[in-house]
Amino acid sequence: MAKEYEGRAVGIDLGTTYSCVAVWLDQHQRVEIIHNDQGNRITPSFVAFNNEQRLIGDAAKNQSATNPENTIFDAKRLIGRKFSDPVVQRDILLWPFKVISGVNDKPMITVKYKGQEKHFCAEEISSMVLTKMREVAEAYLGSPVKNAVVTVPAYFNDSQRKATIDAGTIAGLNVIRIINEPTAAAIAYGLDKRNDCDGSRNIFVFDLGGGTFDVSILTIKGDVFEVKATAGNTHLGGEDFDNRMVNYFVEELKKKNKVDISQNPKSLRRLRTACERAKRILSFAFVTTVEVDALFTGIDFCSSITRAKFEELNMDFFNECMNIVDTCLRDSKIYKNDIDDVVLVGGSSRIPKVQEQLLEYFKGKELFMGINPDEAVAYGAAVQAAILSEGCKNVPNLVLRDVTPLSLGISVSIEHIMSVVIPRNTSIPVKKTSRYSTLYDNQCLVNFLVYEGERPRAADNNLLGSFGLRCLPGPRGQPLEVCFSIDENGILTVTAREISTGNMNMITITNDKERLSMFDIEKMIKEAEKYHVEDMQFLRRAKVMCELDSCVYNMKKALKKKDVNLILSPQEIAKINNAITVAMDLLDKNKKEKEIDVLEGYLEELERMSKHLISKANNFIFLG
Ligand code: AMP
Repeated sequence: MAKEYEGRAVGIDLGTTYSCVAVWLDQHQRVEIIHNDQGNRITPSFVAFNNEQRLIGDAAKNQSATNPENTIFDAKRLIGRKFSDPVVQRDILLWPFKVISGVNDKPMITVKYKGQEKHFCAEEISSMVLTKMREVAEAYLGSPVKNAVVTVPAYFNDSQRKATIDAGTIAGLNVIRIINEPTAAAIAYGLDKRNDCDGSRNIFVFDLGGGTFDVSILTIKGDVFEVKATAGNTHLGGEDFDNRMVNYFVEELKKKNKVDISQNPKSLRRLRTACERAKRILSFAFVTTVEVDALFTGIDFCSSITRAKFEELNMDFFNECMNIVDTCLRDSKIYKNDIDDVVLVGGSSRIPKVQEQLLEYFKGKELFMGINPDEAVAYGAAVQAAILSEGCKNVPNLVLRDVTPLSLGISVSIEHIMSVVIPRNTSIPVKKTSRYSTLYDNQCLVNFLVYEGERPRAADNNLLGSFGLRCLPGPRGQPLEVCFSIDENGILTVTAREISTGNMNMITITNDKERLSMFDIEKMIKEAEKYHVEDMQFLRRAKVMCELDSCVYNMKKALKKKDVNLILSPQEIAKINNAITVAMDLLDKNKKEKEIDVLEGYLEELERMSKHLISKANNFIFLG
């Protein structure tokens, strides 16, 4: 296959709770999961703002308990959605940060940054996480990274996919392909297995992460990975399980301590962190304690929870997972007995009840847990990135055939029935044409409303966009042709043509209201650059302040030495003392901040003085 993109490309799993970046190392013919600056292989998808700086990743998550209103997570749950979406409305109640309705019902996250109120859309927050992942990769590779394959839940709709590409663009990345998370995980799994299997192998990927749930059934035959069916819920995952536990303890506090912490973001954040930890422990223990010192008005919270209670709290979610598993198998028309491997992906797939239900469903078939569930998706994305980019010669030549997760069609007839042009689970890329006709005599404009979804009434589905086609007046029933085409990223273009005149109109669904315009994206790229410059300036200031502080410390220590007046003249000592006083004044947080150049200039002078002092002291000892 001809390589399409110049330079190195990485694979990024942009997760709801954690993100991961990986790269194919051509010389070693393997994928490397890249550590971040803290040495972690996964990075929290968190961004925080405070009076001084912006933080991304571990640094943002680590301070979330003390700054909950300005620590943003879960941006993926907002991406491509409207503010009025009931799912968004439900989430808002649980988040400590504020979300308001922006232009065209777009949800806007509100934070305080450097004392000012700022509004960000989900794409901007995701772009900040992507920027962090790009920087992690660049630090490891020692060269700029321009291209990336980014993964999305298989069940992401058209708007959510496009919003993810926009986030990449704002982060300065060329998103060369969007691939589905379970498909990426299947690549990671299948890369080793593909040589062991004669004929074909059916694999079932169960991907339960922090915020989304996806299942896919693939057939691997040689180098061809063909997705047969996919299903899921873009709003079901570990965070929902955490929330149930949080609510359980909030009620317990009401009963036992007569306090209601539900309106206190700081207490809730701390309780949520403790619950998430407890949930992980319950994956290998049967009971655990949840302790938070000074949780609320001096109350030291201490309670316990059993695995059975945790399961009871979340049983409806676990059952929903199994219903989705069943739907996917039915759609694929593959019998469960013909599934060769069940592969577990996503941190929440470690939950014992989930595994138990899967074992029961697949009649005891062993669950494959050999690939790290937190890293498999980025691993597969890195392989796909290498296949598409120049310079990787030793990468296996895999062919991916994915499917469309939702049916796509238009609204027809006066009753506005959903007429499906591309049924769900059709292999992509795909192009399909359907015939329609005008509804009235002398109709000169036909409006096409494009929807995605499975409901028979078009209005119950998700409206992607609309466009009009001018026709020549004539009796009703004039034939029209509508063509739907989906590219490798799962992105749709619709064309309509009046057959008698050849009149045509076309839309790539870009005019859906919640999508960012080119103008918005360019504005956000500029703002992202501004934030980056501010971050760099903050680090530069922090570094010079630190060095100034340590220089003052060393000089003070040297002046305290007992023979100092034998080495230095009284004038020299006075000069140094004076320099220390000036430096301490610069370091004083209560005084107006000095320009970084002034601080750096002064540091240089102080270091020169310090070197002189130390070399004199050394000479003295040497001579002495
Ligand atoms: P992912 O989106 O794949 O990174 O998954 C993150 C989610 O997995 C978070 O909600 C974690 O709390 C959850 N998780 C990670 N490890 C475990 C575990 N041992 N037991 C239960 N949930 C876990």
